[in-house]
Amino acid sequence: MILPGQTLGLLGGGQLGRMFTQAAQRMGFEVMVLDPDPDSPAGRIASRHLQAPYTDQTALEALGKGSAGVTTEFENVPASALSLLERFCPVRPGPRAVERTQDRAVEKGFVREQGLGTADFHSVLMDSDADAAYRAIGAPALLKTARLGYDGKGQAEVGIAADVRAAFERFGRQPCILERRVALAKELSVVLARGNDGALVTFPLAENRHVNGILDTSVAPARVDARLAAEAEAAAARLAAALDYVGTMAVEFFVTQAGELLVNEIAPRPHNSGHYTLDACATDQFEQQVRALAGLPLGSAALLSPATMVNLLGDLWAGGVPRWERALADPRVHLHLYGKTEPRPGRKMGHLTVLAETPDEALAAALAARARLTER
Ligand code: AMP
Repeated sequence: MILPGQTLGLLGGGQLGRMFTQAAQRMGFEVMVLDPDPDSPAGRIASRHLQAPYTDQTALEALGKGSAGVTTEFENVPASALSLLERFCPVRPGPRAVERTQDRAVEKGFVREQGLGTADFHSVLMDSDADAAYRAIGAPALLKTARLGYDGKGQAEVGIAADVRAAFERFGRQPCILERRVALAKELSVVLARGNDGALVTFPLAENRHVNGILDTSVAPARVDARLAAEAEAAAARLAAALDYVGTMAVEFFVTQAGELLVNEIAPRPHNSGHYTLDACATDQFEQQVRALAGLPLGSAALLSPATMVNLLGDLWAGGVPRWERALADPRVHLHLYGKTEPRPGRKMGHLTVLAETPDEALAAALAARARLTER
C-alpha cells in the first residue's frame, strides 16, 4: 500500500495527468511527472517535473527511484519504459496490459479472443496487402495506422481500392489496418476502475458523440435500454479482468444500426468520456486511478445527477478569448480548463459539465452554454 505523503510517479503530463495530479494532491500525495514538454499541464502543478523523453533511461530511473508507484496517462508510452520502471516500483497498469492496447491489430485480436465483436479489419503491412485488404473489407472503410493514432489522427477514408494504396503511402508505409466503416446508431463508453485485489467499480455508461474523430459530447447515463447497458458493462469488465488491469480504464463501443455492440478501443487510462465523473459521481475517475495505484480501496462510482460534458477545443478561441461569464451564467455549468497556453484548432483546452434533472436537459444546457462562449 502507498500512503498519503508518498510520491506517485506519472508518465505523461497532459490534461489527464493534470487531473490525476489534482486528485492525488487532494488526497495528500506528492506527484512526479515525466513529460518532454517544458509547459505540460501536469508538469506545471506537480511537485517535480522531469523534462525528458519517455525513452530517456536516466529520467526513467529517476522516476522509478523517486516514486512509490508509477502510472501512465497515455497509452503510447513504450512498454519497454514501463518494464524498466517495474524494476524500481509497482507499475499500474502493467506493461503487458498497456502493450495490448497500443497496436490496433493486436488490440482487436485480443478483444475477439475474449468472445467480443469488433469492426471487421485486415492488416496492411506492405503495398501488396492493400488489394487483399480491400477485397476482404470493401468500402466504405478507414485505413488507420496500427499505432499512435488518436482523436481521428492517422486515419483516412477509403472508397475505392486505390485509396488504400495512396493512404498507406501517405502514412509512410507504417503498419496499418483497413477497418470497415460501421453504420453507427450510437457510440458508448464504459469507464471502470480495477484494484490490485481484482475489485471492480464501473461508472455509469456514457453516450458519446464525436465530431471529426474527436469526442464532442458525453451524456451520462447513456440513453439506451438496460439490456445494452448491461452488455457493455459486462464486456468492459471481462476485458479488464483478462488484462489483469489495475487502474482506471475505458472501453469505447460502437452500436450498429442493427443493434450490435462492437468494441472500438480500449484506453489504459482515464478517458475524456469519463470527465463528467469529476462533477457528477461520488468518486471521480482520477481519484479511482490514485486509489488503484496506491492499493487503497476504490470509491463509490454512484451517479449523483444526470450530466453532460462538452469539450472545449482551441477553435473556440478563433474570435478572441471565450466569454466564460456567459457560459457560467447558468449556475448548473462547471468550467474545467487545463492550463494550456496555446489554443490551436482541434486541441483539447478544457470542458464544461452540466448537471440537470435529466440527461436531455443536461445536454441542451451544455450545448447552449458552449454556444454562448463565442457570442459577440
Ligand atoms: P478511433 O480513433 O478509432 O476511436 O476513431 C475516432 C472516431 O471516428 C470514432 O469514435 C468514430 O466516431 C469514428 N470511427 C472510427 N472508426 C470507425 C468505424 N470503423 N466506423 C464508423 N466510425 C468510425
